[in-house]
This record gives sequence, structure tokens and C-alpha cells, in this order.
Amino acid sequence: MSLATLLSPIRTDLELEEFSFSNQDHHIQIIKSLRGQGHDLTQYTLDPITPEDQARWARQHAQMHLDMNAALGVNSSDLSGVDFSKPDMIASWVTTHANEHFVAAQRLGLK
Ligand SMILES: [Zn+2]
Repeated sequence: MSLATLLSPIRTDLELEEFSFSNQDHHIQIIKSLRGQGHDLTQYTLDPITPEDQARWARQHAQMHLDMNAALGVNSSDLSGVDFSKPDMIASWVTTHANEHFVAAQRLGLK
């Protein structure tokens, strides 16, 4: 997957599926890399994202960002308030979220 996928708009179910897969894939890469540096981070299941389970997903995913950013020594944004049922309201979330992945990839030498 390309990290650029995380910057794509999420307006349709297919786009949400692509985001969900790419996001989980990148989180796994980040966690593996950080474990190699001695950071024991919790890996939650992030894919698929279902409407019934979105609250849990948002909470656990935000925690994964807090954990990885703490391990990397970079600032975190609050990513817990995302609601994928309101595509018009999540454009800024998508950008903020993707930026945290770009920073992690850069720091860890990931693609
Ligand atoms: Zn993420």
C-alpha cells in the first residue's frame, strides 16, 4: 500500500475499506518497528471499521496514535472524535491523521 492512500478522501464504503486496510497495515509496520527498538505497544484490530463498532475503533485507534507518538517523542493530536458517517466533517481529520503516519514513517524509515 501507499502511504498516500491515507490522504485520500473517505466518502464511500469502498474508500473507507481502503483506508481501513491501509491504516491497519501501516500501524502494524510502525508497531513492529518500535518493538524492535524496545517499545511494547498494544496492537488493536483496526480493520474492518464497522458502524456498530466505530466508537471502540475510534478510541483504540486514537490510543495507538498516542502510544506511537509517545514512543517517537512527537506531539499527538486528538484523533478520537472521528465519525465516518459524516464524510464532509472528516477532511481535516484525514489530513491530521495522515500527517502523524508520515512523521512516524519518516522517523522509522518506513514506506
Ligand atoms: Zn492511524
